[in-house]
Amino acid sequence: MPRPRKQKRICGMPSCGTFAPCGREYTEKDVVLMSLEEYETIRLIDYHNMDQTQCAEEMGVARSTVQRLYTDARRKIAECLVESRMLSITGGDYTLCAKRKDQCEGCRRRRLGGGF
Ligand SMILES: [Zn+2]
Repeated sequence: MPRPRKQKRICGMPSCGTFAPCGREYTEKDVVLMSLEEYETIRLIDYHNMDQTQCAEEMGVARSTVQRLYTDARRKIAECLVESRMLSITGGDYTLCAKRKDQCEGCRRRRLGGGF
């Protein structure tokens, strides 16, 4: 029996899930896929200036997990910028945050920060 994987908690979906550079044609192989939990680490760490420990607490996972997700997410963003590829944020292994908004830092910041 495979060990059940702990689900990562995320506080919201991006308002736009697809990003593309201007002025070129695309095929399916140009698309870089980012999971929603990878996106959540970018949102919390880079946008909301949390450190990896805070991010891990918000997402309910170990810091080592956050470190891996964050490294992968950064790599994917770099590939999009340098190689002019599309970014599609979709899927993953997560649960949506069910906390009350005033009891969850991740949700509170989503509301204050605008743009999810
Ligand atoms: Zn939340």
